[in-house]
Amino acid sequence: MIISLFTLNNNNQPTFGYGLPRKVVSDIRDIPHLICPKCGDEMLSRQEVNSFISPVLEASSVNLQRPEFDKYRDTNVFRFLKNLSIKHPRKSIASITEDRKIQYKISKFNHDGQDTIKEIIEISRHRTKNAPVVIKQLRTIKDKVPPEYQELLDYMEVYAMKYPDCTFNEIFNKPEVLEYHKRVNDFKQQQQHILQDKAFDKLDEIAKKLAPQDKETFINLNKTLKHNISSCSYRYYSTETRKKLMQYHYQDFLTKLDNKKFAAKVEKQLDILAPYSLNGDKLLLLMSRKDDGLIVKSIVDNLGSTFDHIHPESMGGTHGQYNGICLCKKCNRERGIIPYNILMEIHPNFGENVQKQLNKVMVFIKNGKLLNYNFYPQKVKKTLLEVTEQKLRINIKKYLKFKEKDAQLAVEKARAQLQRNNQALEQVNTEITENKLKINKLLAELTRLNKEQQKLNRQKAEKQKNILKSKNNLANKKYAYSKFHTALKHDK
Ligand SMILES: [Zn+2]
Repeated sequence: MIISLFTLNNNNQPTFGYGLPRKVVSDIRDIPHLICPKCGDEMLSRQEVNSFISPVLEASSVNLQRPEFDKYRDTNVFRFLKNLSIKHPRKSIASITEDRKIQYKISKFNHDGQDTIKEIIEISRHRTKNAPVVIKQLRTIKDKVPPEYQELLDYMEVYAMKYPDCTFNEIFNKPEVLEYHKRVNDFKQQQQHILQDKAFDKLDEIAKKLAPQDKETFINLNKTLKHNISSCSYRYYSTETRKKLMQYHYQDFLTKLDNKKFAAKVEKQLDILAPYSLNGDKLLLLMSRKDDGLIVKSIVDNLGSTFDHIHPESMGGTHGQYNGICLCKKCNRERGIIPYNILMEIHPNFGENVQKQLNKVMVFIKNGKLLNYNFYPQKVKKTLLEVTEQKLRINIKKYLKFKEKDAQLAVEKARAQLQRNNQALEQVNTEITENKLKINKLLAELTRLNKEQQKLNRQKAEKQKNILKSKNNLANKKYAYSKFHTALKHDK
């Protein structure tokens, strides 16, 4: 767990060296408690979202009896989980397996075993405990979720009291519940359409007081807004975002016109056009199609850390890490494709919050807790400057200094290594020269011995020749003697 993370000094620069989690992460979304630049709230890392939900998931003793686990029942890992559930019958499988000691035991299974455990945990996440337990946990984040989710949570409070023995999926799918919220939602939508039509009529009406040419321009602006209202009132845009986008639509005209009274009248109608269209009833209807686990997850996910494409994906932005910062899911959805410079105008703290987020990321990189993000601060800064026409300024000086020091250390290390290598090379060279000398000596000795051998061979040949000569002489003498002897015999 995290004790305390980091604080900022006066220059809004991080002071390094505070308590960091033991875990090394490889994705910025896994950094706990990052600040969301848009809403300024702390976000939940992906693991924290899961840890938040695990305690309200169905108790393992009930959960593991479900037929969806039949195919695993004969496996070792299932027996392992079953044994754990006997020890902790009221805890969910996800909760039990989050324990560090249990995690260690799981790591001892082979690859297939570990994958099967992951699968079982995933399946176990589909079911939750009954509504009262779930709402108790969700109440703790109620003030951080968007207004339509707060409305949904209000409904859920009431239903948890009315149907305490049911889960929310069961409650949302009760015909009387579905019917009621469908009717309320339809009514709200109709009402909003009526109000919008009225506001557009009013906008055309106030145009009558303008000079003919201005009147025509203004009525045309009204027409295009009415035609494109869906792009400003995208389901997830907040009221303030919608209003800002509509203000942009009229901005040039109103600045040129320079008529404060008229501008105020337009503003009044924009207030009617802007309100949020997603409400608790609509959400409840959408949720009725999700399983229990997903209902809870979709609510908690609002606070979860997500990767926001600075250059929107739909406009050719890449998935590269340098094209993204983290926004909470609620804000990411709400941002849609609104450019960052407009976002900065709607949320004056946006830049400061980006700095806070980046500070923490830099602390993680510096302490080796975030892998493969070494060039992220420099590059993401460049992207941010580009999209905001140099308006969003980020201070990463201290990090760059650290990197420079780091690089210097690396150079020094490399230099020392080079020196060591050179020394080793020199030694090897000396050895080679010495060996060469030895070889030359040996070669000379070999030549000398060869010569000696040749000499001996020659001497041997000479001696053999002489022996042969002597033998011949002897034979000749023997022959002469025998001839002489025969002649002597004849004479007798
Ligand atoms: Zn946010």
